[in-house]
Amino acid sequence: MIIPEKLSNLIHNQLVPPVNQNYINVYNPATGNILAFCPDSSNEDLELALKAAQSAIPIWANTPAEKKFTILNKIADLIDQNRNDLALAESQDQGKPLWLAKNEMIRAAQNFRFFATAALQFASEAHIMENHAVNYTVRQPIGVVACISPWNLPLYLFSWKIAPALAAGNCVIAKPSEITPASAYLLSLLIQESGLPPGVLSILHGTGPGIGQELICHPKIKAISFTGGTATGKHIASVAAPMFKKLSLELGGKNANIIFADAQLDKAVKTTVQSSFLNQGEICLCGSRIYVQNEIYSEFKRLFLEEVAKLTVGDPLNADTRIGAIASESHYHKIMDAIQKAKSDGGHLLYGGQTVQLPPPFDKGWFIQPTIIENLSPTCSAQQEEIFGPVVTLTPFHDEKEVLELANGTSYGLANILWTENIHKANRMALALESGIVWVNCWLLRDLRTPFGGMKQSGIGREGGWEAMRFFTEPKNVCLKINDYES
Ligand code: NAD
Repeated sequence: MIIPEKLSNLIHNQLVPPVNQNYINVYNPATGNILAFCPDSSNEDLELALKAAQSAIPIWANTPAEKKFTILNKIADLIDQNRNDLALAESQDQGKPLWLAKNEMIRAAQNFRFFATAALQFASEAHIMENHAVNYTVRQPIGVVACISPWNLPLYLFSWKIAPALAAGNCVIAKPSEITPASAYLLSLLIQESGLPPGVLSILHGTGPGIGQELICHPKIKAISFTGGTATGKHIASVAAPMFKKLSLELGGKNANIIFADAQLDKAVKTTVQSSFLNQGEICLCGSRIYVQNEIYSEFKRLFLEEVAKLTVGDPLNADTRIGAIASESHYHKIMDAIQKAKSDGGHLLYGGQTVQLPPPFDKGWFIQPTIIENLSPTCSAQQEEIFGPVVTLTPFHDEKEVLELANGTSYGLANILWTENIHKANRMALALESGIVWVNCWLLRDLRTPFGGMKQSGIGREGGWEAMRFFTEPKNVCLKINDYES
């Protein structure tokens, strides 16, 4: 599979151009060159997708679970078979190292395979009122739902939403990020081969304010699963809540990575390099605020800097590259501005802080060194606002109480990471941390059955496992009377 010059939408299982014939530039962030042109879809495309979806609703909702299982598994198989092409496309429009993109494609296939089994296993409850009545709960598909995803983990997150929405029997109109549309376009080709009935899944490309806004406003879209920035989430909630749409919002994070003096230091250092800089730090779950207990602060700093110095920034297609290009020019400037601001707030640069100049053809690419900053106050913007790049702050702490206040002292609550060998402390901290996820002595270890999502400004609702199946269905109680009560 190759990326054509012009990408298409998927409507009624056909690859179609946008009705208005407008396109957006898609860049290769490693070179700064245009990679492709992506449809700038409009309301006219949405109406076509909705027409296709409306006719497919009864077909898909009544498709036997075994058939849904087979089709979703087939999509997973097709992703596996085309893993290299999908990964290459994603490395080219997102800037991530190719080896990482290949790993993420395994997860994209797993998402479909996991929710294929959910289609088979999903069940509902009955509540018996002795011999008086029986209540049973029906969990019906919602109808047409929107899945909107960001640019950092393109197919990984796109599939994480689409798969449960389909498994629950809905028709889906999905919008990938306009910055990274390539793997979603290639998914369209796989959908055509998968046996999914026409109209069940449409993929519309375009901007947030354009087709994104059309999607969230449309009265026929009954639920929205959104992953992206907190400001966008707030806007979507303001539009969708008065229309009483079901909403799942997976938003930004400013996660703490807390390393106690009793931690296994070698493991903590190794994983902290990952949790700081994997995917250029462009993962909502990255631990961008590192807190290290006083007793081991100097030693941790020395080992961490030693490991970070080994990270190669460069050509995403080179197997040795550990940090690729920043996904877009505007994001690259946003990160550099955040570094400048941290410096003017009194931050001391321990490592990085500069752009990386590479020889042609990468001389116009958007590369930034892994950056470590210390000596920042807990209230400054680098410790409070999501930078979403290869930038971490390093701060010493005295005890459990102090670090808990620091960790909980932001408006976000997505994930936190703890390093300690003391199980009691781990439990105490895990219960007190304000976040949807706490990792103890690990990071990014994911069981797809677990609830996934954030507290506070990191979002509303949970995805993953049954939580996703419940979100994508409407529960209805049916009460059947059996007998009158005998007095
Ligand atoms: P973004 O909010 O700019 O865009 C996300 C998606 O929303 C894109 O497809 C965009 O086109 C669309 N969009 C923008 N405006 C819209 C509108 N008015 N109506 C409908 N759709 C609209 O986010 P981004 O810059 O693509 O992604 C980075 C953000 O995503 C970071 O804040 C990161 O933390 C967050 N994120 C969160 C999670 C999570 O699971 N919590 C996972 C990954 C990324």
